[in-house]
Amino acid sequence: MESHQRESHLQHTKLGRRRCRVILFPFPLQGHINPMLQLASILYSRGISITIIHTKFNSPNSSNYPHFNFFSFQDGLSEIEASTADVVSLTSLLNIKFLVPFQDCLVKVLSNNVDHQENSDSSTGCLIVDAAWNITQAIPETCKLPWITLRTTSVCSFLAFAALPLLQENGALAMFDSKSEALLPELPPLRVKDLPLVKTDHPETFVQLVSDLVVNQIKISSGVIWNSFQALEQDSLNKLHQDFPIPMFPIGPFHNYFTASSSSLLSQDQTSISWLDKQAPNSVIYVSFGSIAKVNKTEFLEIAWGLANTNLPFLWVVRTGLVHGAEWIDPLPERFLEKLSGRGHIVKWAPQPQVLAHSAIGGFWTHSGWNSTLESICEGVPMICQPYFGDQMVNARYVSDVWRVGFHLERRLERGEIEKVIRRLMVGIEGQEMRDRIVSLKEKVDVCLRQGGSSHQALEKLINYIMSL
Ligand code: UDP
Repeated sequence: MESHQRESHLQHTKLGRRRCRVILFPFPLQGHINPMLQLASILYSRGISITIIHTKFNSPNSSNYPHFNFFSFQDGLSEIEASTADVVSLTSLLNIKFLVPFQDCLVKVLSNNVDHQENSDSSTGCLIVDAAWNITQAIPETCKLPWITLRTTSVCSFLAFAALPLLQENGALAMFDSKSEALLPELPPLRVKDLPLVKTDHPETFVQLVSDLVVNQIKISSGVIWNSFQALEQDSLNKLHQDFPIPMFPIGPFHNYFTASSSSLLSQDQTSISWLDKQAPNSVIYVSFGSIAKVNKTEFLEIAWGLANTNLPFLWVVRTGLVHGAEWIDPLPERFLEKLSGRGHIVKWAPQPQVLAHSAIGGFWTHSGWNSTLESICEGVPMICQPYFGDQMVNARYVSDVWRVGFHLERRLERGEIEKVIRRLMVGIEGQEMRDRIVSLKEKVDVCLRQGGSSHQALEKLINYIMSL
C-alpha cells in the first residue's frame, strides 16, 4: 500500500465517517485475487477497514498488505485436486469444500469486530464475495449479513454467460460448432464460436455452475461491483440494468486508482524491465497467455518461430506448466535465444502492469483475460487476441470488432500467420490506427476516474451504499 493511500484512509476516518468494516472473500485464482485485492485497497483508501477471508490454497501474501486483517481456513483440497487443469472441476470442488470451513471462519470473524491492524472497533457493513463462489447457502441465517458480488469479468462476457442456460434449454448448445462463424442473433456481434464455453470433463457441471453463479446469484445479491467502466461498456451496461434491476457499481479499472501492492502468486522477474530499458520506444511485442491457458508443443514451437521470424524484439512469458508435457522451454531448438542475439527475452512471470506501461512496448499478444485486456487498454497498448476459453472468447471479439483496438488471431497457430499478424500490428498502418484508437480509450479511462467521472461517481455511490447497509 502506498503511503498516500494510507494518508487518504486516515483523512477519511478523521473526517468522522462511520468506521465500517467490509469482509472480502476472493476466489483463489490469479485473475480473481488481483482485482479483489485492488478493490480492497480502493475501499481502504476511502476509510473502510478491510478483513480478508481466504483459502489456504493459493493464499495471498498478507505481508504486502500489513493494514488488512487476514483470516484463512483449510479448504480440504488435496495436492492432486489443486493441480487440475480443468477449471470447471476446480471451481466446483472448491465450492463443495469451502462451505462448512468458510461458515466457521465467518462466524469467528463476526464475533470479533476489532480491527487488529488499527486497534479500533468497527461494525461490519457487508461481505464482498467473488462471483465464482456459490455463496447463497454459505451465509448462516443467524448472521443476516448483506453481501455484494464482485464480478471480475467484462459486462459483455457476463451477458454471454447469462444467455447459456437458455441456449442449453432450447437445444442450441448441443448443436454448438466451435468453428462456426454464424452470428448469434441474441448476442451481436458474437459468433457461435465466441460462446464462452469451457473445455471440461464435466460439461453438465459447467452449465449448472453458470446457472448458479451467473444467473441465480446475481438476482439475490445486494449489488454487483464491476471492474469495468461506462465509456467502454455502455451498451452492455444498459442491457444489464434492464435484465437485472439491482444496484450495479462499474467502478473500474481498479488497478488504475494507484500503484497497488503486488498480489502476484508467482514471483515477477524484474529482468523484464531491465531488458525493456535497452529497447527502442514502441518496438517490443509482449506475449503472455495469463495464469491458466496452456499450449501444446507444436503450438509452442510455431509461436517461437513466428516471433523469431518477425525480426522484431519480443518479451515472452512462458510460465512453468504453459506447455503440455514440457518442464519449461525445453522444446525450443538448441541455442534458440542465443541465435537471436538478444532480440528475444523469455521469463517465467513478468511484472505485467509495469511491462505494459513501459515505453518500449508496442503491442501485446494476449489470451484476452479480462485483467490483461483492461491493463492493455489503460496503457494504450494495441493487442493480438488469441482466446482459449470462457470469457476470453467474448473479450477478444469485442477488442477486435467493437473497440477495434486489436487483431483477432482466428486461424490455426502457424508461424507464417503469426509473423504476418505481428508485423501488421507493430509496423503496419492498421496497427497504427489501432494504437491511435486505444490511446483515445486510455484518455477515457483517465476521465472516468477523475472527480465527477463515471467510475468516480459509481465509487461514491458504492461507499454510501456500503455505509447504509
Ligand atoms: N500477470 C502477471 N505476470 C505475468 C502474466 C500475468 O502479473 O507474467 C497478471 C496480469 O497482470 C493479470 C493477471 O496476471 O492481472 C492475469 O489475469 P487475466 O484475467 O488476464 O488472466 P487469467 O490468468 O485469469 O487467465
